[in-house]
Amino acid sequence: MRTERIVLHFPKHLADKPVIVNLVRKFDLDFNILKATITPDEEGVMVLEITGEEENFQKGIQYLKELEVKIQPLSQDVIWDETRCTHCGYCVSYCPTKALQRDEKTYMVSFDPQKCTTCGICVEICPYKAMEIRLVI
Ligand code: SF4
Ligand code: SF4
Repeated sequence: MRTERIVLHFPKHLADKPVIVNLVRKFDLDFNILKATITPDEEGVMVLEITGEEENFQKGIQYLKELEVKIQPLSQDVIWDETRCTHCGYCVSYCPTKALQRDEKTYMVSFDPQKCTTCGICVEICPYKAMEIRLVI
């Protein structure tokens, strides 16, 4: 079983076609729409989480490509909201990559996005909701 988050760009002529429904009907894939927008030039952009057997997944992707739907992988960024952070340091011992660290002298916490693997642990545990996952398209 494979689960993937992808971004789909639909050309204008596919706007009224049941493309996503066909992923379920034809290829037995489950999907979850995370975001859907229409750009000013009427291209549809959809962020999808697709789950299914590997073979069906590949067939579904091929189906989308044949329809000229552009497919992009989705990545995530972790954002540190310094205005919410109280520098309590709770996250520091949990961060597996030392992206969150505490200065030994000032006791201030800092975040290095270059070291962050977006594991999401800090997002779960921060009591002040200072860490947030954002989807990057
Ligand atoms: S747990 Fe949250 S509030 Fe505490 S230091 Fe980490 S990010 Fe800041
Ligand atoms: S998402 Fe994971 S790696 Fe990134 S800062 Fe949080 S705990 Fe560290």
